[in-house]
Amino acid sequence: MKIPLLDLQAQFEYLEDDIIDAVVRVVKSTRYIQGPEVESLESAIAEYCGTGYGVGVTSGTDALLVSLMCLDIKHGDRVLTTPYSFFATMGVILRLGAVPVFADIDPVSFNIDPLKMEEILSADTEKTIKAIIPVHLYGQCADMKPIMDIAEKYQIPVVEDAAQAIGAEYPMMAGDGAVTYKKAGSMGIAGCFSFFPSKNLGCVGDGGMVVTQDKAFAEKLVLMRNHGAFPKYYHKMVGGNFRLDPIQAATLTVKLPYLESWHAKRRNNAKTYNSMFAKTRLVSEGKITLPVQVYGEARVGEQEVNLHIYNQYILRVENRDNLLKWLQDNDIGCEIYYPVPLHKQECLGDLCQGVECPEAEKAADLTIALPIYPELTDEMQQYLVDKVVEFYNM
Ligand SMILES: *Cc1c(COP(=O)(O)O)cnc(C)c1O
Repeated sequence: MKIPLLDLQAQFEYLEDDIIDAVVRVVKSTRYIQGPEVESLESAIAEYCGTGYGVGVTSGTDALLVSLMCLDIKHGDRVLTTPYSFFATMGVILRLGAVPVFADIDPVSFNIDPLKMEEILSADTEKTIKAIIPVHLYGQCADMKPIMDIAEKYQIPVVEDAAQAIGAEYPMMAGDGAVTYKKAGSMGIAGCFSFFPSKNLGCVGDGGMVVTQDKAFAEKLVLMRNHGAFPKYYHKMVGGNFRLDPIQAATLTVKLPYLESWHAKRRNNAKTYNSMFAKTRLVSEGKITLPVQVYGEARVGEQEVNLHIYNQYILRVENRDNLLKWLQDNDIGCEIYYPVPLHKQECLGDLCQGVECPEAEKAADLTIALPIYPELTDEMQQYLVDKVVEFYNM
């Protein structure tokens, strides 16, 4: 049996007529830049996230970049982030001439560890750290309550890299103990989404969005994504062309109503893997460690809360590289997210020399992503689990 890591064909076939109609509608309209398709998606995503504003941009990377530009991050500033993420999280910092500072991850959630953040910020007596970028890795929120408390204590803005986590929720506890479920991207000054095809909500090319609760920040984003111009040809600041393509926006409007059902299917697939693996001896023998939904399960009324949207299903395993090869040799798509932690990337030269993040380094050596896309069947999952068992029995 051949099992791909992701099956875009299955989703496309299901929505084919609507997606083609949406693309044709935009092309026939001749509104090729900005316009109603982008605006209606912006309001729909803002509403979905419970934020006042959404600003469509070219990609998840540009969502991060333009957010940092709006915070006036510049040459020599330092930005605190996680060492264990997709490169874009760090790339945008470097492109502005700023320097990334890394707080190691929590080994259970794979997300930035607030205790390590506090250590770094308390030592930053010169106040050189100008922004914080937590990443909601694999579709599960970083621990935002302590992160926001620290950010407030040190008066530093938070830009959420929610590229893998659109729709994920975090149980934010108030002083009186009351919990409100906050959507990924709605807690910092900016929440950055990617619509890259492999994300839970993907378009038919590149796309992204920044959401925010802050009106002035939203207005600045709108200027910044269009060369900082207002009115046209008068430039108060230097922005760029970070505009979302209306064709992409139109396809996302088709897909958004299905997003919750796709999250539910991914979550169900994760449960199925967990119970299938639990029936083997791999877990008790310590060969594999299952992913942990850190904040437990929760319901609000009839509705299950999206504590994890499983953009990726990640195992921590023994003998990782050989398992990867074995699965790939058996036509099973799997991947390493990510083999090299950010502080070890060659492009840094000696910028981050001496930085040590042992948990991120271990995660990079031990984790493997298995297929988790919504259309995956129980039969495929059982076949895959059997192949993993076979590998460790060899
Ligand atoms: C995908 C991703 C990005 C970048 O998004 P693009 O749309 O590909 O530019 C940034 N950060 C993380 C964590 C991602 O997974």
